[in-house]
Amino acid sequence: MHASDVFLWMLRLSETIIVWWITLSTRQSQNVSAGTLAECTEEFTLCPGCDLLMTKIEPTPGHTVACPRCGRRLHREQPDSIRRSLALAATGMLLFLPANFAPLLSFQILGNQVNSSLFAASISMFSQGRPLVGMVVLLTGFVFPLLVLSLLFWVSSGLFLGWKARWMPDFMRWYQHLAEWAMADVYLIGIFVTIIKMSHSASITYDIGFFCFIFLVLVIVAAQTSVDKPLFWILLEGDKATDTPKKYRVPRAAHTGREAGIVLCHTCHKTLPASLLARQRNLHGDQKTLCPRCGEHMHPRKQGSLNRTWAFLITAALLSLPANLLPIMEVRSFGQDSTSTILDGIRFFFEEGSYGIGFIILTASILVPLFKVSGLSFILCSIHFNWATSLRQKSLMFRFIVFIGRWSMLDIFVIALLCTLVRFGYLSSIDVAPAALYFTGVVLSTMFAAISFDPRLLWDTDPDHPKISTRCTKADNYGTP
Ligand SMILES: [Zn+2]
Ligand SMILES: [Zn+2]
Repeated sequence: MHASDVFLWMLRLSETIIVWWITLSTRQSQNVSAGTLAECTEEFTLCPGCDLLMTKIEPTPGHTVACPRCGRRLHREQPDSIRRSLALAATGMLLFLPANFAPLLSFQILGNQVNSSLFAASISMFSQGRPLVGMVVLLTGFVFPLLVLSLLFWVSSGLFLGWKARWMPDFMRWYQHLAEWAMADVYLIGIFVTIIKMSHSASITYDIGFFCFIFLVLVIVAAQTSVDKPLFWILLEGDKATDTPKKYRVPRAAHTGREAGIVLCHTCHKTLPASLLARQRNLHGDQKTLCPRCGEHMHPRKQGSLNRTWAFLITAALLSLPANLLPIMEVRSFGQDSTSTILDGIRFFFEEGSYGIGFIILTASILVPLFKVSGLSFILCSIHFNWATSLRQKSLMFRFIVFIGRWSMLDIFVIALLCTLVRFGYLSSIDVAPAALYFTGVVLSTMFAAISFDPRLLWDTDPDHPKISTRCTKADNYGTP
């Protein structure tokens, strides 16, 4: 296939995705009304982002339920969620083998040709003597996408067929934990970057694996979007709901979960009375504080959240020095060796006139890690020093940090592909260099820092807290996410 055909094809695909995205995002959002907070028995829910106590409501079709206090999205109804998730997960599993094992690309330089599958690129770091980086690439680029599709397939199959198996909540919990670590979409952008990087020095042929992988990534993204998590958890809970209370008597003055004595499960968002958890902990030890629905440990706040987040941030800041100063690639061309740092790679794209791709690499490799470390440090400092202003903006910043975290892996995927595809012996070859290990460490540390942080700690010092809590029965004054 000619390169211009591929480009036109990609252009049409991007147009479809953008139109689809705009259609989704222009649908009206609907803010949930905060609880009436009367002393009545009612079904309540808590916001995982700020701990606000709210009367539970279901979204009307086409609307999103959002927290009136921090703006976090709580629920968006997905029509025909189980059937769509099942169909997409099954399609993804069918595409997975050809996408990963069929030839992906062929590079040709002066009559010499090298081709490779995506799986060969995923394990290339092992043969380069970098097992730790290789393990991360293999897990995030191959193992986790496969696991995410398989887990979703089995859970949606079970729900579709009405099974009541005990493994289903565990599978759903693991699906949720692994979803952000499955980075097939980042890998796809890595393939495009590799193609643009090599388009001047090698002739490139697109093989069947390339097109299968594009469809696979689209299917994975669509499958993850179609999962209506609250609906899945309600169906998975089934009859188990009878042994734990769903409705509570809540004091009139309470406006957060902590004040009302209700604890939220971080994973499935089930609520339980804190007194029940404390009683179970006293009677049976820590094992009995597990969520009865999904099996996750339940705590009013993530334990040791601030200390662990600081530890990961400091690790990331220290590792970012060798990651940026040491060479990340060794390039051999006509017998001459040269090394290249992350910044050299970015400069290469700008000098070649590929400003778009240069900007993507600059953002993913330099700006995103820098923003994650400085943004999270700022949020942590504002908790330590009680800077309780602009909490809504800080919450939004935290959600953005979580969203962009995984895209820093882009550079590592590009290097894995280059090491596999640029193997022309004396003519030209690329090997991985020490900075790849440190850079992978930066990406992992910042992702773990974001996972360790509990955003509700930010809101615990809110001075306007009572005002928001009082009679917020109509939340029209609060923005939408
Ligand atoms: Zn909230
Ligand atoms: Zn749970």
